[in-house]
Amino acid sequence: MQHQTRVFSGVQPTGNLHLGNYLGAITRFVALQADHDCLYCVVDLHAITVVQDPQELAHNTREVTAAFIASGIDPTKHIVFNQSQVSGHAELAWIFNCVARIGWLNRMTQFKEKAGKDRENASAGLYVYPNLMAADILLYHATHVPVGEDQKQHLELARDIAQKFNNDFGSSIARAGYADGFFPLPEPLITGPATRVMSLRDGTRKMSKSDESDMTRINLTDDADTIAKKIKKAKTDPEPLPSNVEGLAARPEADNLVGIFAALAETDKEAVLRDYGNASFSTFKQALAELTTAKIAPIGAEMRKLLAEPAHIDRILEDGAGRAHAIADPILAKTKEIVGFIR
Ligand code: ATP
Ligand code: MG
Repeated sequence: MQHQTRVFSGVQPTGNLHLGNYLGAITRFVALQADHDCLYCVVDLHAITVVQDPQELAHNTREVTAAFIASGIDPTKHIVFNQSQVSGHAELAWIFNCVARIGWLNRMTQFKEKAGKDRENASAGLYVYPNLMAADILLYHATHVPVGEDQKQHLELARDIAQKFNNDFGSSIARAGYADGFFPLPEPLITGPATRVMSLRDGTRKMSKSDESDMTRINLTDDADTIAKKIKKAKTDPEPLPSNVEGLAARPEADNLVGIFAALAETDKEAVLRDYGNASFSTFKQALAELTTAKIAPIGAEMRKLLAEPAHIDRILEDGAGRAHAIADPILAKTKEIVGFIR
């Protein structure tokens, strides 16, 4: 069966939405709206894999929703909702817990990074997180998933899960009337010049919501002064900028700042170095701070406006959840039939 093209992606409501989320994910979400049916989900079930304060979780869920809308996602033409309002995510995740193999999960680098040294004390949810992510996507038979580079491994796992389900339940799937597989193998869309924005303090670490230091990231809600201060203090090396992209090799901090500039200016690193090659970091950082403020500050301002009316945001999420249910319910019902659950 040829699956209809459908886009799904999610962002966790874990606070501190940053430039990496914006460039690596949200701007991609916005672009895909033109010629795809899209579902954009605030993945609150994923957020609780680490401890969350309930009031903050609710606020952060509204904040991610506001960021989606402020960045240009249209919740009337596409679907914006929070994951916990559609129970099918958790139900399908349970089935996938029984399809995925422990050996597959043991290879996931995100779990190793997030669990750190205290693995024994990590939640079981953090360990099976990738199975829930596969469920998020496959519950809608989504075919394309725009994500940052860090999610590539989880997407590959989602494909493995879809494939194994299709094989394990092959005859049941055929009896249900599907000739070649029930779940599509979702394709990652990892595109643009900023698929992996790095920390401003360490060019070898990803910019992250969960990094303890706020100086490592530009938040979408930062004001112009904060943005300028963070960029000014960003780690660099003593050399001026190189005049071509090859010169960025082995200079992770310079590479990162040039990549951010290119993504914000909607151009590429070569073009940035044509303008700023041989410039000092102080000159380049000033231009980068101005560009970042021009692009990010209006989004922050719009987010604040939207967040002043939480009831409006909640209505958007409820409406989106209703429309997400309408797609998910028949797919979940078929999945249950294929597995052999009586309904
Ligand atoms: P956390 O540290 O809590 O995992 P996060 O910053 O990784 O937070 P997520 O909500 O897990 O944010 O990811 C949302 C989307 O943003 C995903 O598609 C992810 O790949 C993308 N993303 C996250 N960090 C970056 C980054 N530094 N550069 C590019 N894309 C990123
Ligand atoms: Mg993450």
